Amino acid sequence: MRIMVQKFGGTSLSTVQAREHVLRHVKRELEAGLSLVIVVSAMGRRGEPYATDTLLDWAAQNGNALSAREKDLLLCCGEIISATTLSSLLEHEGIPTTVLTGAQAGFVTDDNFGNARILDVRPVRVLEQLQLGRVVVVTGFQGQTENGDFTTLGRGGSDTSATALGAALRAEMVDIYTDVNGILTADPRIVEDARPLTVVSYAEICNMAHHGAKVIHPRAVEIAMQSQIPVRVRSTFADTEGTLVTHPEGFQDVQTGIVDRYVTGIAYVSNVTQITVDVPGGGADRLQLKVFKTMAENSISVDFINVTPSGVVYTVFDSDSEKAIQVLQEIGLKPQSLSGCAKVSVIGGGINGVPGIMARIVESLTLADIQILQSADSNTTIWVLVKKEDMVQALRALHASFELHL
Ligand code: ADP
Ligand code: MG
Repeated sequence: MRIMVQKFGGTSLSTVQAREHVLRHVKRELEAGLSLVIVVSAMGRRGEPYATDTLLDWAAQNGNALSAREKDLLLCCGEIISATTLSSLLEHEGIPTTVLTGAQAGFVTDDNFGNARILDVRPVRVLEQLQLGRVVVVTGFQGQTENGDFTTLGRGGSDTSATALGAALRAEMVDIYTDVNGILTADPRIVEDARPLTVVSYAEICNMAHHGAKVIHPRAVEIAMQSQIPVRVRSTFADTEGTLVTHPEGFQDVQTGIVDRYVTGIAYVSNVTQITVDVPGGGADRLQLKVFKTMAENSISVDFINVTPSGVVYTVFDSDSEKAIQVLQEIGLKPQSLSGCAKVSVIGGGINGVPGIMARIVESLTLADIQILQSADSNTTIWVLVKKEDMVQALRALHASFELHL
């Protein structure tokens, strides 16, 4: 059996026209002889009837007191509606289907409701149905605890459902269908001349996703990487094959001249707060420990950490900043904070050791009159922190400076 997993995101299912495109992709692959497992997200975006955010708003308007476990039960409805809708449309075309919830498809998770981790995928029923020649439609974004409670996997979780299922089934391909033409050099909503990439390595896109490129969830990529399942990110609304995500050796199979690039793309995370804690007169070692322990104890995730002999600088999400400041003050520190910042990242496997890349970043931001509040780098990424109002211009300036539109 040649198994393919197709995942359709929210906007790919939200209108009649979009669903017609979905049917087209399904029929094409069936005609090519593949056994299909289709993973779906909830239809549409906030405001549309069964979208995840609409369900959350609904709960907020009605008591606003749902516990995490019950909230997950509510959220699971979004994918169930979209899976059954797709099933009905396929059956109407004479295509036999079986809908399975995350639990029925074999997703076992921990009980961290709202952001559960997949512990195991046991796709027995999926395989059974495929063997009967049926298309299996699976509700993405969800699973079940060993006790039988419904759980959800967190934002972007349907991507993870798709690659985890692909790995468990040893699928020959996982196609992630979305509303853009693949993985681009930057978010096309901000950088208009962003260009689709033909092929990227798991590591490159993992990095981009971790640094904010929301086109695919980083955990989804990690799972695909571990099991070496090829993934394509492609448009529901076109027939182009989009971006192939694979291991670097897989690049040879793809006709491309861009393997040697230094910079793959540019990503951003907005709405972060920079926190500075100084320790006048030394003793910074103990301070660092105190600061980061306090953050961890309060479940505040920290990023962009710079440690110097005189103190620490790091970022938290704006939504966590009030609490972060409060708990630091409670242990006797005097933190300073700057909210409304954005982290802009330049990502590329080839950055390592290439002289002049940082200079180029500083130059292009300086020419655009953008202040760099903080910077850091690793083998594959250079980050700069800027004010949020400068973010769009920073992204465009860097994209142009590295000639990513070419
Ligand atoms: P879906 O509902 O299909 O999962 P998402 O909204 O999660 O769709 O992801 C697609 C969106 O990701 C695009 O509309 C685009 O604005 C955004 N995006 C951010 N960075 C990138 C990038 N580098 N390449 C492509 N899309 C990106
Ligand atoms: Mg998504």
